[in-house]
Amino acid sequence: MTAIIDHARSALLEHRRLLTEEELSALAETGEDELSALAELAHDVRLAWAGDQVEVEGILSVKTGGCPEDCHFCSQSSAFDTEVKATPFLDTEEVLAAARETKATGATEFCIVLAVKGPDEKTMTRLLELVPIIETETGMNVAVSAGILEGDQAQRLADGGVHRYNHNLETAGSFFPSIVSTHSWQERWDTCEEIKRVGMELCCGVLLGMGETDAQRVELIGQLQQLQPQEVPVNFLNPRPGTPLQIRKPVGAAEALKWISLFRLGLPPVILRYAGGREITLGDLQSVGLTSGINALIVGNYLTTLGRTPDEDLAMLEDLAMPVGALSVAW
Ligand code: SF4
Repeated sequence: MTAIIDHARSALLEHRRLLTEEELSALAETGEDELSALAELAHDVRLAWAGDQVEVEGILSVKTGGCPEDCHFCSQSSAFDTEVKATPFLDTEEVLAAARETKATGATEFCIVLAVKGPDEKTMTRLLELVPIIETETGMNVAVSAGILEGDQAQRLADGGVHRYNHNLETAGSFFPSIVSTHSWQERWDTCEEIKRVGMELCCGVLLGMGETDAQRVELIGQLQQLQPQEVPVNFLNPRPGTPLQIRKPVGAAEALKWISLFRLGLPPVILRYAGGREITLGDLQSVGLTSGINALIVGNYLTTLGRTPDEDLAMLEDLAMPVGALSVAW
């Protein structure tokens, strides 16, 4: 098996080429005894392709719950009986207060997130009002996550100053219909392509631990290689009470670190961001992810679950001697 890791090292660091799905499948078969070699390679690849800086971002749910979609992992769906209740769009002062708090952590990116299938005209107007205000008041780049975009919506958001748009593929195309019935994976893909076409940066995340196979995780990496996003947030399922996936067991720490490494090896230049679920999956091992390919964090709370305090994360980065800064990605 070590030969496979040596082969990947040569491909990524000497020949500077992407790994194929066959090569990634072979790496996915390595056992726990080779986890540290895999993680070490992922760290070397991160340093060689993306540098040593870590990008820090805050996210804020400006419109929570009541979503008409039925993503089986999501406590914000109105299809499931969960503890999350629908709330209206936050007002500008509330959003600005959260943005200022985020800025104080050293963050360079602030993402406003809405639980919607896609933005209606009223939402577009609010977003286009808010984005320049946050940018001017805090100096941070502003990202938006508001679902599927249609018509000229992507262009209008790009023209309105949105730096990065988040739209997750979540999982491989072959597994997606087991998780969502109210929209298709293709609709997600089309929005991702449109985001890139109009010149916004694409943040396209994944959610691991929903029952997908290893082969489907490799399929997903291959699909992301085609999309070439700037950022890939890695979420691990935190099974939420009331959702259909509440019965699933969280991904274990060794498996999580292996797949963080594999996502870095498959997507060498990206901003690979720790996102939801790292606390329950990795516990005290969260710093190990940062030496296994991760080079970005979401600080503070997630959309419906609590994260660690920003101070804990910033202390972790200081211990690792990893500087905080904004990253830009060229494939
Ligand atoms: S993941 Fe997004 S689109 Fe799906 S139910 Fe949750 S908020 Fe709605």
